[in-house]
Amino acid sequence: MSDSNRRSFLKKSFLGAGLLILGPSNLKSLSSLMGSNAFAAGLPMLPETDAVAATLGYKANAAKVNIKDPRWSKKAAADGKDQKCSTCMFYSKLDDKSGKCQIFPNNSVSAMGWCNSWAKKP
Ligand code: SF4
Repeated sequence: MSDSNRRSFLKKSFLGAGLLILGPSNLKSLSSLMGSNAFAAGLPMLPETDAVAATLGYKANAAKVNIKDPRWSKKAAADGKDQKCSTCMFYSKLDDKSGKCQIFPNNSVSAMGWCNSWAKKP
């Protein structure tokens, strides 16, 4: 084994041992230290066809919500144009175009999206 291979092996071993010692509960703390994006970045974008998303009228582009549909009357309100995921209390920004939503923990959502669970960020 060459010196560089040995160094690489030792680095990986120490990192692996360190993560084992930390355990899963501490890894969550580690992820917050590293920033939520480090672990959430791999979340697939929420498809509009997802059963719950469709029930809540989720659209990746809030401008495409059919405000004539009585189910989405909230979006037809006076503040409707300002209603989008990025202004929703359930949204946490991942990057300029997407974020995490507490309603859909297994996906990321579009910053410009909307669903009927929208509630103004306090
Ligand atoms: Fe977007 Fe809020 Fe609906 Fe989540 S709850 S999809 S952040 S509008």
